[in-house]
Amino acid sequence: MPITTIAFDADDTLWQNEQFIRLTEQRFADLLRPYADATDLNERLSAASVRNLAFYGYGMKGFTLSMIETALEVTEHRVPGTVIAELLAAGRELLSYPIETLPYVDQALTQLQQSHRLILITKGDVIDQERKLAASGLAEYFAAIEIVPDKTAAVYARIFARHTDGAERTVMVGNSLRSDILPALEAGSFAVYVPHEMNWSHEHADEPVNNPRYARITHLGELAETLAQLDAQG
Ligand SMILES: [Mg+2]
Repeated sequence: MPITTIAFDADDTLWQNEQFIRLTEQRFADLLRPYADATDLNERLSAASVRNLAFYGYGMKGFTLSMIETALEVTEHRVPGTVIAELLAAGRELLSYPIETLPYVDQALTQLQQSHRLILITKGDVIDQERKLAASGLAEYFAAIEIVPDKTAAVYARIFARHTDGAERTVMVGNSLRSDILPALEAGSFAVYVPHEMNWSHEHADEPVNNPRYARITHLGELAETLAQLDAQG
């Protein structure tokens, strides 16, 4: 049975995202360095971000709160209000960065929408994800758009049941092994991993081995051919 639906991740699969977070992390470290002895400011921030996922979910608002929390922590609550104001401004900037689609995205979506149903599955703040999607100009390619708080096998199963001909006829395409590949495979779909040069360490996981429903490509220009191969194997 051929694959009829292609589900795409958005951040760092269709457009750049992580690079803006890295720039903000640098700004965070530059702002805090005069007030804190800690040399591992970015590690402390990353740890706070992971710790806070359970409270705030994925997205820029939670990241901003984690910057403030870490600033308080590393300065033993002595961080000046002016620095907090700068961190809030940096967080707001993250909610308005320009959308830059990744190479081959437009060609791949234009080509594949003629043969497949395309859907988008992204996690994070709804307002932020909707802004990025609108700014990307890519929304028209997708028959369905799902913005979810987290990407688990159960979430994929629900989305596949609602929008596809079944998980076994669906492929999930994304840059995160942890969020896009492993849970989608667990839900019964195919999965194609497109690594991005910048990945948050939290999103890392071991790559599947000897799984006929899994493939790895270097960019979306390779997707059509890889889907034909997966169809032949699956
Ligand atoms: Mg992503």
